[in-house]
Amino acid sequence: MRKLVLATQNNGKIAEFERLLAEHASDIKVLGLADFPNMPDVAETGSTLSENAFLKARAIAAFTNLPALADDSGLFVDELNGAPGVYSARFGGYSGNIAKERDQINIEKLLAELKNTTAKKRSAQFKCAVVFVNPTTNYEHEVIGVLPGRIAEIAAGDSGFGYDPIFLPDSFEQTLAQLGAGVKDRISHRGQALRAMVPILSEHL
Ligand code: IMP
Repeated sequence: MRKLVLATQNNGKIAEFERLLAEHASDIKVLGLADFPNMPDVAETGSTLSENAFLKARAIAAFTNLPALADDSGLFVDELNGAPGVYSARFGGYSGNIAKERDQINIEKLLAELKNTTAKKRSAQFKCAVVFVNPTTNYEHEVIGVLPGRIAEIAAGDSGFGYDPIFLPDSFEQTLAQLGAGVKDRISHRGQALRAMVPILSEHL
């Protein structure tokens, strides 16, 4: 079976990639942190999602000598001129390693910054850059996914990760965390990007 390493330590992203790959590319064996416990945490020093996704995919492909898939993603809020953007994971300044606590602090900071912003001006987009690198052939490919929506006034829902409890996708009145995995996979930035990547994986793995 062909092998693909997920170049991420984020369990929320790992769960989504595993679901999406199982649905759209079930002939691929997905490897991750559990298979490479010493997988390095690659510093995201780029200034764009694209730069960071290339950094992560190349580093993990070099470390494992296997084809790697990386995602760099973020939430871009129009009223905040695109913040938190590439800094979405670090927005609230949390320095621990408990994902739920970090997500909570990020959400609280974002809601506080939008406290006086009316519903009409709360538009935002989730964006992700997904990069595939095959170290044997030196083949590289990038796809982008975008999910437009708006920031809710209060957090709601338990599903997903990150800013899902405060993101209302366009055409929906519930947050991604309320809509659940099935709807999220169908519409999300990551779902779109991964479906665009599937033919590339079939050809270049
Ligand atoms: P990074 O790609 O590792 O820099 O982290 C991206 C950050 O953006 C995550 O830690 C989340 O805070 C946020 N994010 C990215 N994608 C999603 C998503 O699908 N739902 C909620 N938050 C997300």
